Amino acid sequence: MSNQQWDTLYLNANLATIPSDDDLGIINNAALAIKDGKIAWLGARQALPAAPTTLANECVDCAQQWITPGLIDCHTHLVYAGNRSREFAMRLAGQSYAEIAKAGGGILSTVQATRQASLEALYQQSAQRLQTCLQCGVTTIEIKSGYGLDLDTEMKMLRVAQMLEQNFPVRIQKTLLAAHTLPPEFSQVEAYIEHICQQILPQLYAQGLVDAVDAFCEKIAFSTQQLEPLFARAKQLGLPVKLHAEQLSNQHGAQMAARYQALSVDHLEYIDAAGVQAIAAAGTVAVLLPGAFYYLQETQKPPVELLRQYKVPIAIATDCNPGSSPITALPWVMNMACILFGLTIEQAWAAVTLHAAKALGLEQCIGSLSVGKLAEFAFWEISHPAEVIYQLGTFAKPANADLTKVKFD
Ligand SMILES: [Zn+2]
Repeated sequence: MSNQQWDTLYLNANLATIPSDDDLGIINNAALAIKDGKIAWLGARQALPAAPTTLANECVDCAQQWITPGLIDCHTHLVYAGNRSREFAMRLAGQSYAEIAKAGGGILSTVQATRQASLEALYQQSAQRLQTCLQCGVTTIEIKSGYGLDLDTEMKMLRVAQMLEQNFPVRIQKTLLAAHTLPPEFSQVEAYIEHICQQILPQLYAQGLVDAVDAFCEKIAFSTQQLEPLFARAKQLGLPVKLHAEQLSNQHGAQMAARYQALSVDHLEYIDAAGVQAIAAAGTVAVLLPGAFYYLQETQKPPVELLRQYKVPIAIATDCNPGSSPITALPWVMNMACILFGLTIEQAWAAVTLHAAKALGLEQCIGSLSVGKLAEFAFWEISHPAEVIYQLGTFAKPANADLTKVKFD
């Protein structure tokens, strides 16, 4: 019935377009147009080529609200059963990792709880956590498996991730992290990696449950040499890889990940100059996880200056997990990244939008407000984007809430 060129036109908005990590790309009193789910035009309102109602089927008054790209949480273990608050209390009381493990804590306690949980129970617990993420303006989230360590439970976890995507307004990237730790059924690392390569990975990939492959490279987990066959198998299947690397020690995981053109290497407290050079050359994103650094009361910080010097894109994420970072609020992690690691406001914003999109291989379609990218936004009632980081407990407005459709002539 109408032949307007755009579907929706947002007016009286303030935009933070996030074109880079040293510029928020602010446009005040802006207009933003959508056509077929993509951004078709944006700029100052007075630069609109004609009267709004002649341009779009629907005009929306944003009443000076801010629009940013939807936030992207590019590293989470959001799907798990139970929680480890008892362990948290033990740690505060001064008990060691070994004592906690002996008392039935640690990662294997989450493995046990997740194996025992029904699909429905696992879904319910995870959905509750996801809801908090969404209240913080998240529109894309990565969820890893890795608390199953057997075919059935890894499948159950990734199915839950898939169900969450079907039932909530969010894009979910599913990552297989079967190489998280050695399951109790295996005494030999090589045999378990072989089992992942031959059974778990190909079967779950065939079911459409795997978008990327991740692993934990650390003294207490797997070495680069042990992980090599897994990355080779992922590449054979055409799947991108990521790596938990140099969190507690320097195992030169970054170099190996770079050889496989990893999308990201994550944690990086102990990465050295050679590691930084390798990921810079490979175009790999550095994902920093200040929540785990904070909860574990670490003192070795990732070399942010060195990463900047080599122009490595820096993303940050919640690392939401029951052991070392039970956090669902991405803005809190932005705050930690600024206070603990010295990121600027501009870098923290780019780290959960522009660079987080690249860490998931989605930089062509999301991560900034620019023409051609998907219309996935967060709306905020603030007077400047710094407030989201500065004032803990600032939540995004539900999409289109309180925005009124009015006539603009
Ligand atoms: Zn992690």
